[in-house]
Amino acid sequence: MKEKREVIALYFFLLMITAAVWTAGRYYPGQTSLAVATVPAGPQEQTAVPETKASLNASGAGAPELKLTRDIKGIPILMYHNISPDPSTGSIGHRMEPDTFERQMRYLKEHGYHTVDLGAVLDFYQKGAAIPEKPIVITLDDGYQGNYHYAFPVLKKYGFTATIFVVTNIVGGQNDFDIKAGLKPPTRMLTWEQIKEMDAAGITIGCHTLDHAHLSKVSPAEARRQIVESKKVLEQVLGREVQYFCYPYGEYNAYIRQVLKECGFRAAVTVNPLLVTGIKDPLQLNRIGIPGYMEDEEFASRILGP
Ligand SMILES: [Zn+2]
Repeated sequence: MKEKREVIALYFFLLMITAAVWTAGRYYPGQTSLAVATVPAGPQEQTAVPETKASLNASGAGAPELKLTRDIKGIPILMYHNISPDPSTGSIGHRMEPDTFERQMRYLKEHGYHTVDLGAVLDFYQKGAAIPEKPIVITLDDGYQGNYHYAFPVLKKYGFTATIFVVTNIVGGQNDFDIKAGLKPPTRMLTWEQIKEMDAAGITIGCHTLDHAHLSKVSPAEARRQIVESKKVLEQVLGREVQYFCYPYGEYNAYIRQVLKECGFRAAVTVNPLLVTGIKDPLQLNRIGIPGYMEDEEFASRILGP
């Protein structure tokens, strides 16, 4: 009798389990795994991977690691100037020691950041395009020769891209605009050969006027010439459209932005030290300055935003 009761109890137990599984199947059809359940549905599933350039693309070799858009707090655009170990080219601040730059790039790599160009930032916010996880933009202003000798090898080592904003009239020469103003010691600038080599390797070349002009202080006609002519020169040399602009001294106004728009610039960077959290005006993108003396902890916190 006792054995028979146990068999009956087991039978009912199995019947209950079967009923529970059947009920779950009815209410959650097609849910085969947690992974499927957590993929959000939406238009972003159809978005394309943003175009990245040649060899220094967003995540190095292989398919980029993609993350959908909604949980990004903001994208840091970092501003550097001269990367050089030579103290005669300026004091630490405007100049950064190559070791410091290497340490910062290694930090980004080890913490899962992916470098993108400004176009990827615009596509992400304006078109809902996918972007690599933890995106970050690296920019270097003025076009110092140290960018080629000391920044470029480090960028290549980590599979990173960057944008270098070039002052076209001093390519192959010295930083005349700083020397004349008595602001900085003479420093060699990039040559056209170095610029072309970096462009071919996936570095984006952007426009920083003919002479590093004070665009809000010169005449409107001169401001226009500085913008139009420098874009033309860069495009002739590189054989491609130049889409990004950097305001010398961070100076701009409504007229300057209008000229940039007429010239077909897609974006311009300022020195407003915040993350990019959306695109109200692509010609006023925030950018965070990274001086050469910045401590590692400060760097790690600055890229997270205020
Ligand atoms: Zn500059």
